[in-house]
Amino acid sequence: MAIKERKTLQALRGMVDILPEEQGYWRYVREATVSVCEGYGYGQIDTPILEDYSLFSRGVGEVTDIVEKEMYTITDKGGDTIALRPEATAAVCRAYLEHGLHNKPQPVRLYSVGMPMFRYARPQAGRLRQFHQINVEAIGDADATIDAEVVALCWQLFRKLGLKGLSLQLNSIGDPKCRPGYVEALRSYYSQQEGRLCRECKSRLERNPLRLLDCKVPGCQPLIEGAPRSADYLCEECQAHFQALTRYLGLMEVPFTREHRLVRGLDYYTRTVFEVQTSEEGQQNALGGGGRYDGLIEELGGRPTPGVGFAVGMERVILNLKRQGIEPPASPGTRVFVAYVGQEAKAQAVGLVSRLVRSGVSAMLGPAGKSLKAQLRQAGSMGVPYVLILGDQELEKGVVVLRDMTRREQREVGLEEVIEQIR
Ligand SMILES: [Zn+2]
Ligand SMILES: [Zn+2]
Repeated sequence: MAIKERKTLQALRGMVDILPEEQGYWRYVREATVSVCEGYGYGQIDTPILEDYSLFSRGVGEVTDIVEKEMYTITDKGGDTIALRPEATAAVCRAYLEHGLHNKPQPVRLYSVGMPMFRYARPQAGRLRQFHQINVEAIGDADATIDAEVVALCWQLFRKLGLKGLSLQLNSIGDPKCRPGYVEALRSYYSQQEGRLCRECKSRLERNPLRLLDCKVPGCQPLIEGAPRSADYLCEECQAHFQALTRYLGLMEVPFTREHRLVRGLDYYTRTVFEVQTSEEGQQNALGGGGRYDGLIEELGGRPTPGVGFAVGMERVILNLKRQGIEPPASPGTRVFVAYVGQEAKAQAVGLVSRLVRSGVSAMLGPAGKSLKAQLRQAGSMGVPYVLILGDQELEKGVVVLRDMTRREQREVGLEEVIEQIR
């Protein structure tokens, strides 16, 4: 085992610490998520970070970048191949099967917020190797009302967060009945242009033609523009489903545009796909997205069960909150700073801080070995409203000096009454 010794240790590449001054944003996003999801009747679920490798090779797809190149795979001490969760949907579906949730009224509405995910990819702005997601899944109902609910919930979440300039893109990619015809049309269109394709697209043409529409290489864009559209290949049922979805979204006052290039490359995705994007130019403009995955649970060994959901990257959301100058509500901070001079006063101050906190008043002990002036300076820079000062004189009299930092005045208060006075 290679262990680096006597070096200054740092967090791993693409993995970051979230310091106290950042937590306000996280709390803000978490609280908005809980409020919107619970508002729609979704229940929170947390799943383990580690899962059986095959859950993701089956549930995400063996030939995806995520499983092929980006998944953290570990052989544990028992010799089993396990993986750090790269996404949530497969794990939530596993939990649905494992706990017999199909016996409950359908659909089962679930969400998670702040679960860490792991992908070994090149770190860039808003994209880390350990990142955090909001996930919403509604499992067990194929009706378009549920697609509409999930899309509307996603949109409402961004509205609640106060983000501006977002757009919602929507498409239908058909089902196992009509999609093969569309994929064939794509394959034949692209085969005639093979010489003009980028390297990556050549391999997509072999393995996963739908993903051809995802290509970001400039040279491939004209080809995408001219490519066959899934809309023209939908069977009657898929068309009716999409029409119902758009009608419901209208009634829910959710604005959307149809984006023909929006696809998901795996077989178990069906019909609805959607994405929420920022208007800014750049690679990382998708804040979240999802769709219907009616084939997934069967892929994981369950009976055929429809499902629809989405994922939102929390780092990207926070990045955009900052860009748009949206400040989370300030946390209340410490109310009382307890300064002291002398050994016995120190001991009494320790007890006083503890009593304050137990009575529900946030309090902090002054630093050891510092002059009273230095302690007061620290209290001032923290912006606490009250400072309590304890010295030998005060101890003798059984009092403490209560200093009101906003009014800049102070008075003596009995040690027994001080908590009442502040609270
Ligand atoms: Zn390409
Ligand atoms: Zn169809």
